[in-house]
Amino acid sequence: MDNETLQAWVEQVSRDSFGRPFLHQATFNRRLRSTGGRYFMRSHDIEINPKQLETFGREETEKIIKHELCHYHLHLTKRGYRHQDADFQRLLAEVGGSRYCSALPGQTKRVQPYRYKLVCRSCGMEYLRKRKVNPAKYACGKCRGKLFIKMLDFVLEP
Ligand SMILES: [Zn+2]
Ligand SMILES: [Zn+2]
Repeated sequence: MDNETLQAWVEQVSRDSFGRPFLHQATFNRRLRSTGGRYFMRSHDIEINPKQLETFGREETEKIIKHELCHYHLHLTKRGYRHQDADFQRLLAEVGGSRYCSALPGQTKRVQPYRYKLVCRSCGMEYLRKRKVNPAKYACGKCRGKLFIKMLDFVLEP
């Protein structure tokens, strides 16, 4: 598949699943290692790892496209476009996008995702954690309040 076909594909997914046009550039980038796709905040362009398509096929790649389009549309409409934002998680679930930018297997240097958060009982401040920790050992950095730990219903890449 060439870049032109990818561009048309992303435009179509954007119209069909988001009801909005994709007005920027989508290209394949073979140099992407651990990630299936990337969204560029400055140029608003999207890159897709061609190995994603070769390894997982069209259906899985379309989920990555949807993931990147979630970043794209939320960023352009000034809503929460980061993985941890409620807007992002809601839209991603709605369109059925992949949970990760990085979905390719077999990397040696896999970055640990966030799986937990420490939440302050007093002020509600949240701190992401990659490992399960004992909340009694920590205090809120903002108000020194007591914390409790909660597993994320969503695994977040760092
Ligand atoms: Zn992402
Ligand atoms: Zn606090």
